[in-house]
Amino acid sequence: MDERDEPRLGLDNPAPGERPNSAAPEPYRVLARKYRPSDFTGLVGQEALVRTLRNAFASGRIAHAFMLTGVRGVGKTTTARIIARALNCIGPDGKRTTPTIDPCGVCEPCRAIAESRFVDVQEMDAASRTGIDDIREIIEGTRYAPAAARYKVYIIDEVHMLSKQAFNGLLKTLEEPPAHVKFVFATTEIRKVPVTVLSRCQRFDLRRIETGVLAAHLAGIAEKEKIAIEPAALSLIARAAEGSVRDGLSLLDQAIAHHFGDSVSEITGESVRAMLGLADRGRVLDLFEKLMGGEIALALAEFKSLYDSGADPLVVMQDLLETTHFLTRVKVAPGAEGFFDGGSAEAARAVTMAGKLTVPALTRAWQMLLKGLLEVRDAANPYPAAEMALVRLGYAADLPPVDRLVRSLRDGEGAAPAPQTAPRPPSGGASSRAQATALAPEQPAPLRETAPQSATMLSPPAVEIRSLEDMVALAKSKSARILATQLETNVHLVSLERGRIQFRPNAQAPKTLATDLANALRDWTRERWIVTLASEGGAPTIAEQRIAADRARKDAVSQEPFVRAVLDAFPGAEIVAVRDREEPDVVSMPPDEESN
Ligand SMILES: [Zn+2]
Repeated sequence: MDERDEPRLGLDNPAPGERPNSAAPEPYRVLARKYRPSDFTGLVGQEALVRTLRNAFASGRIAHAFMLTGVRGVGKTTTARIIARALNCIGPDGKRTTPTIDPCGVCEPCRAIAESRFVDVQEMDAASRTGIDDIREIIEGTRYAPAAARYKVYIIDEVHMLSKQAFNGLLKTLEEPPAHVKFVFATTEIRKVPVTVLSRCQRFDLRRIETGVLAAHLAGIAEKEKIAIEPAALSLIARAAEGSVRDGLSLLDQAIAHHFGDSVSEITGESVRAMLGLADRGRVLDLFEKLMGGEIALALAEFKSLYDSGADPLVVMQDLLETTHFLTRVKVAPGAEGFFDGGSAEAARAVTMAGKLTVPALTRAWQMLLKGLLEVRDAANPYPAAEMALVRLGYAADLPPVDRLVRSLRDGEGAAPAPQTAPRPPSGGASSRAQATALAPEQPAPLRETAPQSATMLSPPAVEIRSLEDMVALAKSKSARILATQLETNVHLVSLERGRIQFRPNAQAPKTLATDLANALRDWTRERWIVTLASEGGAPTIAEQRIAADRARKDAVSQEPFVRAVLDAFPGAEIVAVRDREEPDVVSMPPDEESN
């Protein structure tokens, strides 16, 4: 790992003259690397961990092995390196003889460790070196005293990836570690680490960074970078980062790049929202209110205006789902926090709205939106798909909840009259819930529509993933754009079934891809996924397939007699693109035409 470009960059003393985008020819360094903390004062949001470590160091009871666990981007590797420095710091004057929780950052060991060139601190990534031979090398090394330091420190990242054999080999050393050896393990999947190993480590759970804490951290960095950015923009970024400092900083980088050259001096919440493809939460709430009130025409107009201002239809569907979730939680557990910031005007409005809605109505909205989300995700043109889903939801808002319909049927309210399929015209909210309920006994017909629908949705299947393309679409729907791109360009699929994927990563794939993917899939599908890597084989990547399909299409077209003749007649001519005849028609039809 080449980090020679970042000597002593503790948050407290950033080296001077490092302003990006300044006149200085200093190459721009991404914020996540520039502001990687070099001591515990700079580590964000991990107070409990720091306190425990501080006590251990103060009392001289330092464990032989540390196990750092937490989701990606919370600072595991950073913490591991700080521990290595803390163990080996000799102080600015070189006279310190004991470990210190506050490494100086300027002595040779401190600097060398930060630059990953310290001979007695070895970092290994278990994701790429999983075998017993790799571990044997380490075990061999532990026999010898450190060359220059107090302790030999072995940092093993993604330790859960080690083979069983490798773990067993390691175990012997962990049972009786030489006094001059320390291990620091890091993992995103603590459950895959054998208990025998765990029990010999001091375990630290790194927490997801809370949105407010992360926003404050980003604000501090923006200030150091002399970047003017609205608090609203920072909190949008912090929320999108989902507890990861690294992701937060990457998004901040992206916002700065996005903004660069913009005439407006300050990065606004609006521009970040556009960058993230997000809709204004207040307006999402407006949309939800109209839908639940059955005001379909107004809802569609609201949706169009959100779309026009850059919101992704899929993200709008997601936001509506989150809104539904929030309102439901507020109903069942007042004071719940979530999608809307506690104390904000939106949160207050949401709470009021929750009071007017019933739990059955909310759960039905959830099911319909979930179905809509999948349709939007799979649709060639997401906009009309989203509109259709919204129309369905708005129409259903006029119907009494299913339980009441069932009750009315059971109570013998007569057989269904001729099915009334045409929805009533969406009339600016004229129909209220009360009216709809009153109508219910005479109109049980809609049950036919509603019942099967809810039957299929009662056990909302975890998101179904049948192909790599599905996975990409899912990643996009979760705004995990980087992961989506990696799946498209770096993954040679070997096999895929529910809960299992095996692929061969290409050379450009980041080494954390398998872990990132497994975590993401687990979060998204609520199912456990086993992601394994293959060293050979696998289908071409999606990107390659696209290129190949395009080429095949051009080849096929070039064989057509007429095209052949044209190509022959114009030497040097080439086929740039192949379009279907009907395509222009589809494209030219504005998706929002019928919303007014
Ligand atoms: Zn030092």
